[in-house]
Order: sequence, then structure tokens, then C-alpha cells
Amino acid sequence: MGILFGFKLFDANIIGDMRLLIILITAISVTVIQYGGVAIASEISISESIGSYTAGCIRNSAALSINGEGYQVIRLGRGRYFGNPETIDYIESLSKKVNEELNGILLIADISQQTGGPILDDHSSHQMGLDADILLWQHPIAKNRTLTITEREHIHPQSVLTSDEMKIDEFKWDPINGEILKVAASDPKVERIFINPVIKRRLCTDYAGELWLGKLRPWYGHDGHFHVRLRCPEGNSLCKSQKPIEITGDGCGGDLDSWFRADGRIKKKRKSGPSVQKKLPAECAAIMNGMY
Ligand SMILES: [Zn+2]
Repeated sequence: MGILFGFKLFDANIIGDMRLLIILITAISVTVIQYGGVAIASEISISESIGSYTAGCIRNSAALSINGEGYQVIRLGRGRYFGNPETIDYIESLSKKVNEELNGILLIADISQQTGGPILDDHSSHQMGLDADILLWQHPIAKNRTLTITEREHIHPQSVLTSDEMKIDEFKWDPINGEILKVAASDPKVERIFINPVIKRRLCTDYAGELWLGKLRPWYGHDGHFHVRLRCPEGNSLCKSQKPIEITGDGCGGDLDSWFRADGRIKKKRKSGPSVQKKLPAECAAIMNGMY
């Protein structure tokens, strides 16, 4: 076809072919302009995390698909599967590794609401699309097939601790959890991961001396899921970083010990006053009112 067309350019009917050439060049130019237009539009719709982890929002969040390689999203009715595109990429690539390298599956719970902002029940963070909750559960049905929407609504994290919360319950613990946390924490995009102190203590034994353990921050609860927090993405100039973790190394010594009483129980949480929602950055008002 190309050869035929090239040949025709040089035959006697050259004026007609020149017209054809002009039409072709015009068509190509229009296409280039159209692509240019798309590029400009995507620059306008750039995503951005604004504020802090506990008082913030997201401009143009991305939605995580409800199924992907190595993961399924649960409790869709809560509408908390939105995040900064970096968070969505992170979850997709972590799940792919979990599937391909560990033959496991991740159940993804809360990330953020579509515009970010305060979540009215159990979280003070998850506000700017950089936090994600992932269950410590190789759900036997999810491993074999896609869960129905109704099944997903009824899945809640199950603690992997004994009922006195002093030890790991070996019947509920799957060693793959340690491997998943290792992969999850080793990504440089991860700022920290919240996990129960009893689980961290177990991993400090299983992975003695490994530096990724330093990113695991002991915290109350977090015994049926872990909570990944990503750093502020590059270029998100209104995203406030959290104060860096003040430990060096794996954090398996005094830092972890300070969570336990002499009898081996986790220290009680200090009573704080009623939680007060921190003031959101000014930019969030328009975003959360749907004007962006
Ligand atoms: Zn969380």
C-alpha cells in the first residue's frame, strides 16, 4: 500500500496526489493538536495530597479497582477506596509481588474517601489518601475466587493475638504475614507501618537485625490489620510530612520494650480528651464541597 502510494506520487496525476498529501498532513496535525489538548487537560487534573495525615484532603484522587492481581477491596459501601495515585500504584505493586512471590492475597480495607478529609468513625488519619489498611488474613475464599459485594461487606479484621492479647495465637498467625510486611516496609515510598507491639515483637525474633523492622511502629490495636503510611509524594507541596521516626536501627530494643508492662501486657493507652477535629487547610473547603 505504502509502495503503491509512493509510486503514485510520481505519476502524471501529481496535482491530485499533492492534494491527498495535504489532506493527510492536515489530519496528522489535528491529531497532534488533540493529543496536545489531552496533555494540557491532564496537567489541570493533577492529583495532590493537601494538609496532614490527620487534617487534610486530596485533589483529584484516584480510585483503586475493586479487584486486581493479588488483592480484593472489602467493605465497598464505605466508599474509602480512593487515594493519591502513588498509594494506588503502591497497593497494586505490593499485591502483585504478594501474589507472584508469596502466592498470597491481600484484602484492602480503608484508604480515603473520594475527597479525603475526616472519616467520622474510627480513624483520625486516612485524610489525604496516603494511608491504607491491609488485613493480616489469607482469606481462604478470597484466595480461590472473587468475593461477592455482600461477602466483602461482612469481612472484618480478625485479631491474630491470644484472647489475653499477650501473645501471637499460632492458629491465627500465618508466617506469610511477616513476608508481606517485609515487602510492604521495604518500599522507599513507605514512611511507616503501624502494627501491634506483640506482632512487632514476634517479627523482631523472626527477622532479627533486619533494618526494615525500623519502619514498623508499635501502636494500639492493629492486631488484625496493618496500616501503611506513605511519604508525601514529590511535587505535593501542600502535603505536610510527619516528624521522622526517632529511632535508629530495627527499633526492637528499648523502643519496643517501652510498650510493655512488667507482667508482659501492653501498657494502657493514656486517656485523652474527646477527639477534636483539627482545622483543615483552606484549600480543602472547595475540594470537599465538590468544586474541584
Ligand atoms: Zn488505618
